[in-house]
Amino acid sequence: MSERVIPLIDQRAPERVAAPAAAFAQATRISANGLLADRLGRPLHDLRISVTDRCNFRCSYCMPKEVFDKDYAYLPHSSLLSFEEITRVARLFAAHGVRKIRLTGGEPLLRKNLEVLIEQLAALRTVDGLPLDLTLTTNGSLLARKAQALKAAGLNRVTVSLDGLDDAVFRRMNDVDFPVADVLAGIEAARAAGLGQDDKSGKGGGLKVNMVVKRGTNEQEILPMVRHFKGTGIVLRFIEYMDVGATNGWRMDEVLPSAEVIQLIHAEHPLIQLDPTVAGETAERWGFADAAGRHDKAAGEIGVISSVTQAFCHDCNRARLSTEGKLYLCLFATQGHDLRSLIRAGANDTDIESAIGHIWQGRSDRYSELRSTMGPDTATLQPGQRRVEMSYIGG
Ligand code: SAM
Ligand code: SF4
Ligand code: SF4
Repeated sequence: MSERVIPLIDQRAPERVAAPAAAFAQATRISANGLLADRLGRPLHDLRISVTDRCNFRCSYCMPKEVFDKDYAYLPHSSLLSFEEITRVARLFAAHGVRKIRLTGGEPLLRKNLEVLIEQLAALRTVDGLPLDLTLTTNGSLLARKAQALKAAGLNRVTVSLDGLDDAVFRRMNDVDFPVADVLAGIEAARAAGLGQDDKSGKGGGLKVNMVVKRGTNEQEILPMVRHFKGTGIVLRFIEYMDVGATNGWRMDEVLPSAEVIQLIHAEHPLIQLDPTVAGETAERWGFADAAGRHDKAAGEIGVISSVTQAFCHDCNRARLSTEGKLYLCLFATQGHDLRSLIRAGANDTDIESAIGHIWQGRSDRYSELRSTMGPDTATLQPGQRRVEMSYIGG
């Protein structure tokens, strides 16, 4: 048994520092022209929206049971951004250059009538007049029931988290005894509903499966997962276990570096590295090779997300909106900017756009890069500060 230290304190948003509306109002007016860049020259392209802080799983790396127990105080309904508020903020982000929106959580499919929100978001346009790339990350538990309605509402793609195929391992990792077969059925339903298919190109690749790898817990599941998804059109991605939040008892020796994952897979299924599809892509792409050493497109590809061993902050173009409307500029941030107060104080669109622009232009976050030189925690944490939980701002 590995030793875990779990602080029994409210870890959701320890430093709820709300930049007051007055400060926003005084900020230089920044028109929404899609040309925003932060202090390191990074554009704003990707917005992740957490629609609930609740989840029906208790993955130990994210919402350990010991902390997220029956007494845990989740956000009251009145604190949550309404669908109208989310859509309004998303529209203003789109005007600033956002092209992609990912709904997340907690478990996003637990939010009632999520299809209504998806319909509203699907009607938004980028600065170039194109529909947004609308996607969602889910644990898959409710997907079999909801895939068709999600697609009909305008969802383009879906990413399902699945940490192994062995039922006992999976049940242990989700820690609520949820069977793997039901998640696999969800993935199948998503594919059948067309959530793996790009509507414009008609090509597959939109359906992804994310596996968090913890050394000593599920590394033996890597090869069975590769064998299962190879050639299916579903892109399997391996995520390094991250020191996100403050409750998962993270230890470096439980991180299996992506380089080792690639080595292991390559020995059984030769791989070649592929170019990134877009700038700022979190995953490094590897294609299955044919006998001549070329990419075998029918066999497909895998991805690795190496947030611990290979920081990709230099082109990180992602902003995160928490369930209660705080804007976070980094997954490892300790503070969010309170857009909900601004909205509920009656700010007009120009004021909110201005605030978003101002906040993004002041951004210099690059936690993973700092961690790799200074070590975990020393990078951004001041005495008394704690990082926000992943279930609160979403992955
Ligand atoms: N509940 C949904 C799900 O699990 O897909 C969406 C929210 S979850 C926070 C988003 C992603 O973050 C999941 O793929 C999950 O595996 C990943 N995640 C959570 N905690 C993590 C950690 N400590 N390290 C790496 N990935 C993590
Ligand atoms: Fe829930 Fe997703 Fe976190 Fe697992 S990773 S506890 S499914 S929010
Ligand atoms: Fe982006 Fe922060 Fe992750 Fe770096 S650590 S890639 S800035 S979210």
